[in-house]
Amino acid sequence: MSWRTRSNLAWLRALPGIAADEPLASRTSFGIGGPADFFLELARPEAIEKGIDGCRERGIPYLLLGAGTNLLVADRGVEGLVIRVVNREHEVEGTRVRAGAGLKMMRLARIVADANLRGFEFAIGVPGTVGGAVYQDAGCWGKELREVLVEAEGFVPLKGALVVSATVQLQRGDGEEAKQLMAKLTRERNETQPIKTKNCGSVFKNPPGDSAGRLVQAAGLKGAREGAAVVSTLHGNFIVNEGAATAADTLRLIERVMVEVKRRFGIQLEPEVEMVGRWS
Ligand SMILES: Cc1cc2nc3c(=O)[nH]c(=O)nc-3n(C[C@H](O)[C@H](O)[C@H](O)COP(=O)(O)OP(=O)(O)OC[C@H]3O[C@@H](n4cnc5c(N)ncnc54)[C@H](O)[C@@H]3O)c2cc1C
Repeated sequence: MSWRTRSNLAWLRALPGIAADEPLASRTSFGIGGPADFFLELARPEAIEKGIDGCRERGIPYLLLGAGTNLLVADRGVEGLVIRVVNREHEVEGTRVRAGAGLKMMRLARIVADANLRGFEFAIGVPGTVGGAVYQDAGCWGKELREVLVEAEGFVPLKGALVVSATVQLQRGDGEEAKQLMAKLTRERNETQPIKTKNCGSVFKNPPGDSAGRLVQAAGLKGAREGAAVVSTLHGNFIVNEGAATAADTLRLIERVMVEVKRRFGIQLEPEVEMVGRWS
């Protein structure tokens, strides 16, 4: 049975701040995809929990959205309710820092350095939110969030665990040195990744003992194109949206890369980017 009953639609339309048919492309780093049937930005954890509970009770599909930096949204958009988590508070207590799920990891990296704490510099390479980073155990330059994470506050319904905030344990140190290291890491990244063009970060997971970017390059696929979706000539594990790429173009390119890498090297690449919405 469809979730689009009269009473469900009335419930959704009565939620304060709700928008219908809200474009999502501009809320993702890829800049691709159709609208959310319904869309809400929520900062108060209780409001987010209430929204999720309401959806579950009524059988309404929902999706939590952070900064949209690891998503490929389908051209036909996302069914049900998309909740963008925007609680961005933070609190430094000694060597522990607690941050709201909606705070960007890069911003938190700077807050941590300002507090003369070390051990979070890697986060300058993760453009997503704290919530998205906990959900995916984000990492960069050989360090993963789980190595410093001491607590993730949230709640776990049957499907779609909500992260409300995270606490990380760091060490005292020189904040200026942390900033210099982050500036150096950012410069290096800017030289090796197509950060000026719309993208979703790494498209594929690295297979054990190898790198997806190396395999894509070795298969001669740098520069391969489907419509306006192009395998970056700078880094084989990035697909860039040259302007008007559709989700269908991008999926075709992802599948083409997977088929070609499998044919050439016998290795099955797996997407790292999460595909959400109505694909069929
Ligand atoms: C240029 C670029 C470079 C990148 N480099 C890296 C890198 O070095 N390392 C790395 O790990 N990643 C990298 N990424 C990918 C991305 O930044 C991370 O995966 C990040 O953790 C995604 O966070 P987000 O807020 O954007 O999540 P979204 O893309 O918005 O969502 C991703 C998933 O997280 C879930 N989610 C979001 N918020 C919450 C929440 N509060 N509670 C529960 N679930 C939630 C969503 O439902 C979805 O399933 C890169 C991306 C880009 C564009």
